[in-house]
Amino acid sequence: RSGRSAALRARMEERLLGARFRYLNQQLYTGSSRDAARLFRADPAAFHLYHRGFEQQVRRWPERPVQRIVRYLRRRPASLVVADFGCGDCTLATSVKNQVHCFDLVSLTPRVTVCDMAEVPLADESVDVAVFCLALMGTNLQEILGEANRVLKMGGTLMVAEVASRFEDIRAFLKAMAQLGFRTVSKVSYFYLLEFFKTGPARSGPAPGLRLRPCLYKRR
Ligand code: SAH
Repeated sequence: RSGRSAALRARMEERLLGARFRYLNQQLYTGSSRDAARLFRADPAAFHLYHRGFEQQVRRWPERPVQRIVRYLRRRPASLVVADFGCGDCTLATSVKNQVHCFDLVSLTPRVTVCDMAEVPLADESVDVAVFCLALMGTNLQEILGEANRVLKMGGTLMVAEVASRFEDIRAFLKAMAQLGFRTVSKVSYFYLLEFFKTGPARSGPAPGLRLRPCLYKRR
């Protein structure tokens, strides 16, 4: 009997966690990066809950996109300096030999520098590779990608991994990226792994194609 009620209780907790995760997730995709920073600063427990929910989601996928980026970096020189925007649990930093600057809103590990990704404490043109792995969440995409442009060396690489369904119009998106100073190198699979290189500074002015749908998870 007590076994059954414990199982029921566990299932209810799971449901509640799922519901709160989906709510937080939606907030992250529909507000600016600053709103996200404020939200998690006010409620660090929400961040941990978000991450548990995120882990549960990605476990269902055939492959974690971050593993693709790990493999990509292992094929390139370990001397390249990397900035991981929205690093989560620092899987990237712990899987490669490169120096990796890890940025997130709350630190899940001591390696993380806590900041809003729209404003990272790195010098201009100081990194070779900037990574956004499932981390382009704020609505101020232009500002966030402008920050990546600022810290990237000329000719440096920007890697963006996002679920394909977030792109309303991939061609318009890539065109907007060109305006932000990034030339497309390649893209792949059910999530897009976009590789760009920096061609110059970001030009200001509207970039209408720079739109991503929120990544909303279904209740299961
Ligand atoms: N890149 C990791 C985690 C992806 S989850 C991986 O692939 O496993 C997205 C991460 O982006 C979360 O950890 C979230 O806290 C972070 N994030 C979202 N908005 C952010 C912001 N404005 N500044 C810094 N990190 C942010």
